[in-house]
Amino acid sequence: MLPNRPHSDYAFYNGRRWRNYSKRYRQLNSCCEVCNGEGRTTGVTLSYSHDLKRNVSDGVTDHVVPISKGGAVWDDSNHMAMCHHHHNRKRAYEQRGYVVDAVQGIDGLVPDDRAAIIDKLLLIEQVAERGADWIDSDRVRPGHD
Ligand SMILES: [Zn+2]
Repeated sequence: MLPNRPHSDYAFYNGRRWRNYSKRYRQLNSCCEVCNGEGRTTGVTLSYSHDLKRNVSDGVTDHVVPISKGGAVWDDSNHMAMCHHHHNRKRAYEQRGYVVDAVQGIDGLVPDDRAAIIDKLLLIEQVAERGADWIDSDRVRPGHD
């Protein structure tokens, strides 16, 4: 039985169940999947920082379809290991209206095509490097469900 959908992102992401799950997911998927898409290896596991004197994370377990957009909470086909850089890029892009093509998963929406999402994030990267940070043809697609 899957738990109910979380009431707040903050409580969810700071809850023990998600933190344990995310840690385990990143042990099994220990590199950023977007970086992998362009042949780079960027670890996303926890490592000890001698400066901060605590474990720090080199990345996150991203909900590809955000929970707030109906994304599956625990279905691992909605999870993707991401370095902080690519996760921040994805979030910024989402705030500007990027919507992932999704299908119904076990407990919510999951991405239709993971490879296409990775390609899109790498394309955003190339555009950002050229100084333009937006691709007009990707503007919000209203009515997406
Ligand atoms: Zn990355």
